[in-house]
Amino acid sequence: MEFATSLKCRECERTYEPGPRYFCEWCFGPLEVTYDYDGISEIVTRESIEAGPPSLWRYADLLPVSHSARADLGAGLTPLIRADRLAKELGLNDLWIKNDSLNPTNSFKDRPVTVALSKAVEFGFKTVACASTGNLANSVAAHAAHAGLDSYVFVPHDIEPAKIVAAAILGNVVEVEGNYDAVNRLCVELHDTYEWGFANINLRPYYAEGSKTIAFETAEQLGWKLPDHVIVPVASGALLTKVKKGFDELVEVGLVPDDKEVRVSGAQAEGCSPVAVAFENGSEDIRPQKPDTIAKSLAIGDPADGYYALRAVRKSGGAVAAVTDEETVDAIRLLARTEGIFTEPAGGVTIASLVKLASQGIVDPSERVVAFVTGHGLKTPEVVEARALARIPANVAGFQEALEKKE
Ligand SMILES: *Cc1c(COP(=O)(O)O)cnc(C)c1O
Ligand SMILES: [Zn+2]
Repeated sequence: MEFATSLKCRECERTYEPGPRYFCEWCFGPLEVTYDYDGISEIVTRESIEAGPPSLWRYADLLPVSHSARADLGAGLTPLIRADRLAKELGLNDLWIKNDSLNPTNSFKDRPVTVALSKAVEFGFKTVACASTGNLANSVAAHAAHAGLDSYVFVPHDIEPAKIVAAAILGNVVEVEGNYDAVNRLCVELHDTYEWGFANINLRPYYAEGSKTIAFETAEQLGWKLPDHVIVPVASGALLTKVKKGFDELVEVGLVPDDKEVRVSGAQAEGCSPVAVAFENGSEDIRPQKPDTIAKSLAIGDPADGYYALRAVRKSGGAVAAVTDEETVDAIRLLARTEGIFTEPAGGVTIASLVKLASQGIVDPSERVVAFVTGHGLKTPEVVEARALARIPANVAGFQEALEKKE
């Protein structure tokens, strides 16, 4: 049973039949999937979800997908880890890490992509594509291969080598001379020429819905309770916008009590911080920037959902932090040292933003806080200088000597 009813313009509220479309023909506003929430409330219970598959597909009734067509590599249901050692360093008492780097292609992008490519299959596309800062390319190429689709993924020529290798072994990578915003413009043009399913263009309303599942899982893993405050990295702003929608929907369909609004805070790199700057200025206007940061997976200078992310942050009483590349690398090390999790710069930006917001008292010690760590450190080994402690001859004395040198 599919409860998604239509696509609705976020601005003028005109509705459209479900299909591969993404903007309103009347006012050019973005389209959003709507649901029959009464129908969901009647059928879906905590028990029915818990009896579902050990992946994000346990929330299929809250997603715009039919049950027959699925591009499924098992995305979702990633660990939610209690982070007491990190909490202690930050003066917090109830901190959790949602480790979304443990998805099939090691980033949270597997959530939106598994939904988008399921729709691509349903709509009859034979080829899929995307404009990507790296992780989306990996994910689209992998899910396409699994679903028997051809794929072309377009990336800026200067993304991290490991991300290109991972995408290239899975599908066709096209390196574009320009930054993400140029890649995205190119893909919008290509989508007029080729009848392909572009994950984040004509499939974008469906793509973005997949991100809600990180909020669903967080509440389920906390024993069907909402956290007080979440820290979410912001690139296009889709993830943050959908995290808010996800928590709101759980209340709407009665899966969690209606006792609080989760505060949603954003995390950006200073070198690409259009949403943080607008937040700081009290403005509604997102001014595009030219990205310059090691956090390449967040380097979108003109974020499609920036305005909506900003609105979600303000409505929920959150904030948006911006951190330097140096703070990002320090935070990668801090998370590794305290919690045993190795993340890429996007995760570093999130943890550094948490550090900043905690030190400013915006994240409060009385709150239950969840930070979303969205990508794996092995994709970007070049950002941290880390080497073996020593190279030694294969004898005990050799090791003792190395140990003494260390101390
Ligand atoms: C894409 C991405 C994000 C944020 O995505 P948006 O939905 O575009 O804001 C966060 N973290 C990682 C690792 C990503 O690849
Ligand atoms: Zn409209």
